[in-house]
Amino acid sequence: MLNLIIFGPPGAGKGTQSEKIIAQYQLEHISTGDLLRAERNAGTTLGIRANEYIIKGELVPDEVVIGMVRNFMLSKSSAQGFIFDGFPRTIPQAEALDLMLLEFNTSIATVLGLQVGEDELVKRLMLRGYTSGRIDDQDENTIRNRFREYQNKTLPLQVFYTGQGKYQGVEGIGEIEEIFTNLTACIDKVKL
Ligand code: ADP
Repeated sequence: MLNLIIFGPPGAGKGTQSEKIIAQYQLEHISTGDLLRAERNAGTTLGIRANEYIIKGELVPDEVVIGMVRNFMLSKSSAQGFIFDGFPRTIPQAEALDLMLLEFNTSIATVLGLQVGEDELVKRLMLRGYTSGRIDDQDENTIRNRFREYQNKTLPLQVFYTGQGKYQGVEGIGEIEEIFTNLTACIDKVKL
């Protein structure tokens, strides 16, 4: 299996680059943001509970997200690999992921960190708010709160994965194709 994490702040381009990576390496996409929005749209208890956090720009509790990822992975047990997009977002989520992958007799090959400055991120998110209709992309306070959550709870993962020797940073500003080429170089370096 080839398991990757695409890492970076809200608006860094994780979803866009994930789609291209999936097409090239035949991976299953696990976007916890997409899964949570699907739950909300289906009106499940989990989705309704999660939405209370999402609209405030807060992280959804770890146990909710971890359970959802576990179920998704179990439902795709014949996958050639996974790309984790928007997960893990906390140290406990990263530790849970390592254990889940161990159950599959596998591990994370590399963590691809998209690097984009905050001014560019705010611009992108506001623009996405107009086109995607996502409520959490339309309110500046919510966006700011998401950055705060990222700084406090998610950024420590960069140290966590650097410690495991798995973190690779990639410039996230520029042409989509050029960024993709740089990401594939990082993936090909760790691919068996
Ligand atoms: P973005 O990366 O632009 O913030 P996402 O679609 O990844 O967008 O996430 C949207 C929201 O969903 C987050 O602000 C958060 O509330 C919730 N969420 C997504 N993934 C996680 C996660 N792994 N842990 C906790 N909350 C999450």
